[in-house]
Amino acid sequence: MEKKRIYMDYSATTPVKKEVVDEMLPYFSEGFGNASSFYDYGHEAKAALEKARERVASLINAEPAEVFFTAGGSESDNWAIKGAAFELQRKGKGNHIITSKIEHHAVLHTCEYLEKNFGFEVTYLDVDEDGKVNPEDVRKAIKDNTILITIMFANNEIGTIEPIEEIAKVAKENKILFHTDAVQAAGNIPIDVKAMGIDMMSMSSHKIYGPKGIGALYIRKGVKIDNLVHGGAQEKRRRAGTENIPAIVGYGKAAELAKENLENHISELTRKRNRLIEGILEKVPYTKINGSLEDRLPGNVNFSFEFIEGEGILLLLNHFGISASSGSACTSGSLDPSHVLLSIGLPHEIAHGSLRLTVGDFTTDEDIEYIIETLPGIIERLRSMSPLYEAAMNK
Ligand SMILES: *Cc1c(COP(=O)(O)O)cnc(C)c1O
Repeated sequence: MEKKRIYMDYSATTPVKKEVVDEMLPYFSEGFGNASSFYDYGHEAKAALEKARERVASLINAEPAEVFFTAGGSESDNWAIKGAAFELQRKGKGNHIITSKIEHHAVLHTCEYLEKNFGFEVTYLDVDEDGKVNPEDVRKAIKDNTILITIMFANNEIGTIEPIEEIAKVAKENKILFHTDAVQAAGNIPIDVKAMGIDMMSMSSHKIYGPKGIGALYIRKGVKIDNLVHGGAQEKRRRAGTENIPAIVGYGKAAELAKENLENHISELTRKRNRLIEGILEKVPYTKINGSLEDRLPGNVNFSFEFIEGEGILLLLNHFGISASSGSACTSGSLDPSHVLLSIGLPHEIAHGSLRLTVGDFTTDEDIEYIIETLPGIIERLRSMSPLYEAAMNK
């Protein structure tokens, strides 16, 4: 019998939907043209490029001219932050950036780079126990030299959705540029960049059932930041290089599907996620659910299981065919557990026992029930081998 495989890591990446692949395929062969060329091959590629741009724009209520294709979420974050920082520093507007402690590394490491090498000053705001940034804290952190506020739309580890509209309002009242990393949000929850007052927003295709290595940066009309790649005239000269038409077409289709299915996507994922949370909390003692229960990405589940380590949970889950992730040290590639879990106040030992399971469009009710049947035994087995557990039980 083939090994059972249940994918529960949709926040890490998603499979490409069949409709998306189908739309991409012709652009590798017959439709291979360079979108800058002045003959039919070029015109066809250009038309496909602009159609995709419209679809991505439509997902977030932007104008197509405000959507710039990039190689993904990390590049969009880097461009928005460095582009704004260098442009505004050069114009003498200041050198202070406000962000939060729970941002994705694409934002955090970019801010640290500017701080260490280019004389920028960065305020890393604390979050509350749900992982929320308080808009009042943003207001209080603003100084005369503040040029950029960058706060993520929704957190990739604990799923907390930030009060973006309020934070954008604070930025606007103080005439400061506002960027948000919406890689986990765009396509998973409704976003209206106009109504929300967002100046720049990062997005990625492979988190919404599109291909990897493609994403976009929304730059509101009138916002000037340094160009990213110098060269040809592509992307209005702001990011040069021959466009990856198949990937862009795929991203466009994925964005269209996400928009069409949004309501159903949210209700289905939320229902399955809630069942999983409920089922596990009922069966496994000494368990904490991390992140906000109210303002949470539809597919996100993040538990901390006391007395054990995330790696052990992942290994055993994988043995049972379940793919998940953890914020524990080994899996985060450093000695410390996830900066997000530490920022919401979890002690090291509890952060180490964390597990993220993300539900997606291909997750079935049977998958959820299988996890509810399997996971408690895994936790029990690991605890039975844990000296910490034994010590706590003998207290
Ligand atoms: C995945 C992710 C990124 C990086 O996007 P890539 O397209 O993989 O470069 C950035 N921010 C958040 C919140 C993410 O979840």
